[in-house]
Amino acid sequence: MSLGEFDIIARYFTRRSARSDVALGVGDDAAILDVAPGRKLVAAVDTIVEGVHFPVGTAAADIGYRALAVNLSDLAAMGAEPTWMLLSLSLPTADSRWLEDFARGLFEIADTHNVALVGGDTVRGPLVITVSLLGFVEADRWLTRAGAQPGDVLFVSGCVGEAAAGLALVQQSCGTDAPAAHLRERFLRPTPRVALGRALRTVASAAMDVSDGLIVDVSKLCAASGCGARLEVERLPPSLAAQTHFAPERCLDYALSGGDDYELIFTVPEATAMNLPASVLAAGVSTAIGIITAGSGVECVRNGQRFVPRASGYDHFGRKVAP
Ligand code: ADP
Ligand code: MG
Repeated sequence: MSLGEFDIIARYFTRRSARSDVALGVGDDAAILDVAPGRKLVAAVDTIVEGVHFPVGTAAADIGYRALAVNLSDLAAMGAEPTWMLLSLSLPTADSRWLEDFARGLFEIADTHNVALVGGDTVRGPLVITVSLLGFVEADRWLTRAGAQPGDVLFVSGCVGEAAAGLALVQQSCGTDAPAAHLRERFLRPTPRVALGRALRTVASAAMDVSDGLIVDVSKLCAASGCGARLEVERLPPSLAAQTHFAPERCLDYALSGGDDYELIFTVPEATAMNLPASVLAAGVSTAIGIITAGSGVECVRNGQRFVPRASGYDHFGRKVAP
């Protein structure tokens, strides 16, 4: 069934929100929102494009899920609590089945994080989804990429490289076993580390999320902080799922250079690293993978020897350096 713009908005994107801070949501010319005093407003926007950020043919529910997940990851990296989103949807056709699935995936993760959809735009065009996400952080302290100091310990949450391995399986349409399903899920439905970001707010000296690849993103954190890093490659948590489908060196390529993980990298002073607060530990596994150095750039070391990775990471206007 083909639907008009008004029907699409009314049927799929207008819901009563559980949030009491939405004075006026979807349906008028703009949303009116209650701003909590004493906190800073945090804003992020991310666009995902069919064929660029997700393969053609990706399930609509996964696209909806991912569109918000990648934004939640940005707010997590600031130590912020997400509250409201706006959705700009460019669709080639108004297919009711697709829209229903898309909305289900989107609201599944929105509800998990108590985010209300308060507005958006709906147009005909290539499949492009833009989510703008707003949230709050306490006015006294928030996380940024700048602030890492030489001697700080560099951590990464979760297990990087699994999303890139999952994407490879999606692209090759292969793998029917549980590890393959796990890897695909890691690409299609990344877990934004919002609780970890909140816990790190008063603990980390710097933080950012890993979207383009570990080495590339550690270099960005280092550039923003005016320092360098030494990354000890053998400390990276191994992915048993990736190892069942890919050779060890390929797994390492994915961990160092594959993007799309949406894990957090963060730095803490050495004394804190030995004794991470319970709130940080409760928010999931993080692993110390290196140290911040004076100087610049990221130096990789493997079992004490200098190590040169085969690829660096993703740059939309550069070239994808294939591992
Ligand atoms: P206008 O023409 O004034 O910009 P629209 O007709 O585009 O208004 O949108 C009407 C209402 O529906 C607005 O509140 C807008 O924020 C909301 N809206 C439009 N598209 C979406 C969408 N995809 N998701 C959520 N809200 C939407
Ligand atoms: Mg208007």
